[in-house]
Amino acid sequence: MAALIHKTLNANEPAPNLMDYRAMRATFSWDIACTERAGLPHGGLNIAFEAVDRWVASGQGEVAALRWLGKNGERRDISYTELARLSNRFAHSLEQLGIGPGDRVCVLAGRIPELYITALGTLKAGAVFCPLFSAFGPEPVRVRLVKSQARVLVTTTLLYQRKIREQRNNLPDLEHILLTDSDGSEPGTHSFHTLLETGPDHRSPPRTQPEDWALLHFTSGTTGTPKGAIHVHQAVVAHQLTGRWVLDLRPGDIYWCTADPGWVTGVSYGIIAPLVNGATLVVDEAEFDARRWYAILGRERVNVWYTAPTAIRMLMKAGTEATQGHDLSALRFMASVGEPLNPEAVTWSLATLGRPFHDTWWQTETGAIMITNYRTLDIRPGSMGQPLPGIEAAIVRRRPGGGVDRLEPGEEGELALRAGWPSMFRSYLDDAERYQQCFADGWYLSGDLAICDIDGYFWFVGRNDDVIKTSGHLIGPFEVENVLMEHPAVAEAGMIGKPDEFAGQIVKAFVALKPSYVPSDALRKELLGFARTRLGPAVAPRELEFMPDLPKTRSGKIMRRLLRARELGLPLGDVSTLESENPEEPDA
Ligand code: ATP
Ligand code: MG
Repeated sequence: MAALIHKTLNANEPAPNLMDYRAMRATFSWDIACTERAGLPHGGLNIAFEAVDRWVASGQGEVAALRWLGKNGERRDISYTELARLSNRFAHSLEQLGIGPGDRVCVLAGRIPELYITALGTLKAGAVFCPLFSAFGPEPVRVRLVKSQARVLVTTTLLYQRKIREQRNNLPDLEHILLTDSDGSEPGTHSFHTLLETGPDHRSPPRTQPEDWALLHFTSGTTGTPKGAIHVHQAVVAHQLTGRWVLDLRPGDIYWCTADPGWVTGVSYGIIAPLVNGATLVVDEAEFDARRWYAILGRERVNVWYTAPTAIRMLMKAGTEATQGHDLSALRFMASVGEPLNPEAVTWSLATLGRPFHDTWWQTETGAIMITNYRTLDIRPGSMGQPLPGIEAAIVRRRPGGGVDRLEPGEEGELALRAGWPSMFRSYLDDAERYQQCFADGWYLSGDLAICDIDGYFWFVGRNDDVIKTSGHLIGPFEVENVLMEHPAVAEAGMIGKPDEFAGQIVKAFVALKPSYVPSDALRKELLGFARTRLGPAVAPRELEFMPDLPKTRSGKIMRRLLRARELGLPLGDVSTLESENPEEPDA
């Protein structure tokens, strides 16, 4: 196991927002946290108002809310005042189109300023914002538009032509299409900017209530068909708090979340949490490129950086040279989400970037960070950390007849959260039964397996569906993958259980190598031996196959169910979110 990382506070940096985790946990209540919302002048709550207008009202409107970095080198700042104005205009446009409370507004676009204006304007109009990942092909887009019953879609001309135009007749709910770059030549569409121009800069505050629907997010589809999770305006309380305590954001910070707003992270932490905390949000339109990323971190003087294990593994693959010539000294806090963060990645970041990545665990359904490592607390690499103040987490086992039993420290079981936090999803779209199945005895059951140690740190084991049963042992893929990742040749690793006559299942490893290594029989044996020495024969993989890349969702998660299906010749299931199925350029 990688060594504990001790934290010492740097006197040259601002003091952490959450100084004493334990004391706060002991005294925290969501009711008190709720009083920190600005709220609406006539009562009620609105995410966009909390995120933008509040800062204008308190005299900080000239601070940059968004710093947009175009893929061709453009750089544009949009202040809080301007964002308030533009989102007011967009809310007005929606109302002119007859769109109101509860209506769904989808966006299908790359990371362009119009996406952010749409998100905030939609919320101000009391409608429900639903982002669709821009690299989806026509079919996943159609399915989500139908499921969400979207009445409005904001997109670009090219995306419209490629993915929507031909199937528009099959989308009866979709009344209005707003093109962000319209030249007026596409029949049956509106120009986003012409609509904006007609709206007023100011309008009366929104009329939304805390329990009104605000966001619809489709899950990543890692384990099956993506589900549509509904969140309400009250979620902003958790966005604000986690932004402040976990990401350690404060007004004036330069903050970069690399997740695309097509997924929940890119909205909760790529739009809402940083704005609610008064930070300047860096938005990079371009795709991953190690040198470009280091250049952005250095040039923009990024203070807080939130990214994902896949991106970190790609940075590790790119080598230390890529960091050269970039001054990363402004970085104060770095965190990761979406997949287990290998201990190797934590120690690499400390050695290469001078500070560790902090793992954070949450889901589309939880709406905000739930279990995490904090700026002030020591890191146990490989652990997801500890629950947010206000969140009760436990390891449980479902009873066959219903209900759950809590397990002891060290025992492996399902990770559960006491239901009732502000950003908890309020339903799965059109699937009340599935929603009900997520709850038992007052707990939300996450579908992830984990262990809680005696000190209250949580350790991810794997998803319910990914756990391998071999010769009477239950093996979580993460632990085996971590060990292979320690080998210098390995860039990525994914494990599955393969049926075996004697053992029930054996562990089979799929490995992608770093650029300077080539697959060979000798290397395969070496890796199997390497794993056996560290894990013992019962747990170590018996088979190992090289792949150029592992199959991943568009949001960067290894799809072990696909590795399994391919290995066993089973149907692949829903592949709408698979990276290589949708090869179009995201902003095409
Ligand atoms: P689907 O529910 O459609 O299969 P998904 O669960 O991948 O897709 P998301 O809600 O985007 O969709 O992802 C949440 C899941 O990602 C978690 O349940 C967990 O399995 C994984 N995850 C997120 N953060 C972490 C983390 N820090 N460590 C381990 N796993 C994580
Ligand atoms: Mg899930």
